[in-house]
Amino acid sequence: MASPAQRLATNVAGDFFVDSTCIDCDTCRWLAPATFDASGEQSRVHRQPANEAERFAAELALVACPTGSIGTATHHDLKLATEAFPLVVEDEVHHLGFHAEASFGAASYLIVRERGNVLVDVPRWNAGLVKRIEALGGVRTLFLTHIDDVADQARFAAHFGAERVMHSGDAVAGIERVIEGVEPVALDDDLVVVPTPGHTAGSACLIHRAKFLFSGDHVAWSRSREHVYAFRSACWYDWPTQIESMERLAAFDFEWILPGHGTRCRFERPRMKSEMARCVAWMRDGA
Ligand code: SF4
Repeated sequence: MASPAQRLATNVAGDFFVDSTCIDCDTCRWLAPATFDASGEQSRVHRQPANEAERFAAELALVACPTGSIGTATHHDLKLATEAFPLVVEDEVHHLGFHAEASFGAASYLIVRERGNVLVDVPRWNAGLVKRIEALGGVRTLFLTHIDDVADQARFAAHFGAERVMHSGDAVAGIERVIEGVEPVALDDDLVVVPTPGHTAGSACLIHRAKFLFSGDHVAWSRSREHVYAFRSACWYDWPTQIESMERLAAFDFEWILPGHGTRCRFERPRMKSEMARCVAWMRDGA
């Protein structure tokens, strides 16, 4: 739990606060932007919640924070916010919250499907969350976008008896299904893995129903630039390779970009196509 003694001086006065253990993962800022923003290399409360919706969003951020760096001066019953995860994004796609410090606070997702649920990257282990995932049908497939965000994957895979899917460029020991090369691989009628090396050698994206793109750290929405972009300063493998991967990915249809880090976005397909083309042009122009 966050410590009042470590409350950052950058917070505005009032109930919610961020303490000095914040690792700057960005989660609270996209989950509850009315309350949290960045100050230097950490988050802070820039304005206290002004209504019930903002208070609940701030509580969701408190629950999701990977380092327990968000606190409140008064007692809050967090049952509703805790049990809100898995939180529906749209249709059968859920945000799992409970971000893991081991993946630097990356988001993870659950796709609920009649033919078997898919977990995309993993949250931190939480017994209540695991029970709620079980109630939604468990996990048949665990798709790991890249090496940075594997966190407690072995525990989740063992608990649910899930088949893990990961690209060979990043694959860790024990992965049941290893993807090779850069050609797309269909896992099922509604699931396509698109290898997207660049951020890491084995980064890969998953597209579900030509609607949802789970992009790991390959591509996200930039709130400051206001366009789809890639993390140039966090490209650990090879930027020209990442540009080529982005061009291949841009050929696919999807409406949502659901990243591990960075902000999600949704556009109708024609707009998303133009956003992806703009992203490629921005990368090619020198980013
Ligand atoms: S979610 Fe927690 S660790 Fe991440 S930026 Fe917010 S306060 Fe910091």
